[in-house]
Amino acid sequence: MLEYLSHLIWPSSCPLCGKIGQDLCPICCSQMLDPSGPACLLCEGPLPCDIHGGLPWYSAVPHSGMARELVLLLKYRGNARVGLEMGKQMASVLPKPRSAVIIPVPLHRGSSRKYNQARWIASGISKVWGFPLMDGLKWSKAISCQTSLDGPDRFDMPMDAISWYGPFLKEQEAVIVDDVKTTGTTLYRSYLALRDYSPGGVRFLTWSRSVNVKSKGGIPFGT
Ligand SMILES: [Zn+2]
Ligand SMILES: [Zn+2]
Repeated sequence: MLEYLSHLIWPSSCPLCGKIGQDLCPICCSQMLDPSGPACLLCEGPLPCDIHGGLPWYSAVPHSGMARELVLLLKYRGNARVGLEMGKQMASVLPKPRSAVIIPVPLHRGSSRKYNQARWIASGISKVWGFPLMDGLKWSKAISCQTSLDGPDRFDMPMDAISWYGPFLKEQEAVIVDDVKTTGTTLYRSYLALRDYSPGGVRFLTWSRSVNVKSKGGIPFGT
């Protein structure tokens, strides 16, 4: 109750240091950055990958401690605006493409969330890099809610689970954005949806990196 009242009086405060009037201080956020990449999206090995080719994936932090807390705030406690700063910080430490379009993965179908957290992160990246945000990925109609419920990525997600409803990207690179990478299945399905529309290449950006796929035996290619 007290927390609710304080939010009425002070609409925003940094979740890390408590500073009033900030959704998330840039300095607080930047202190946790530990960027990694490029690595193969599917097996997290070096690029080019002998098995999967060139699917470069970059992330800003390991999924632990305060970095994980920020994801929980963003996804489950309605604090959408922290995503904007997370995206800005990602763009400040990860390599910038020459020309690109910033594309969030779609909100999991069946999610009760009122907003797509990946879109808030993508919007922060778009602002810092000066590339347009294009929210053109959608779950394919034929996919049941069961397949795309919010939760860990599923290896058995159909190949056409996600479709692209945007324009051809010409020579622009598609930068596909999500909050956390677990298995990479949703990101990979997003890439499959975009593959024929983006001759300028692709890269994947996530705020945090979660499990080591290698330790789980690796993602089966083509699933
Ligand atoms: Zn702060
Ligand atoms: Zn690989």
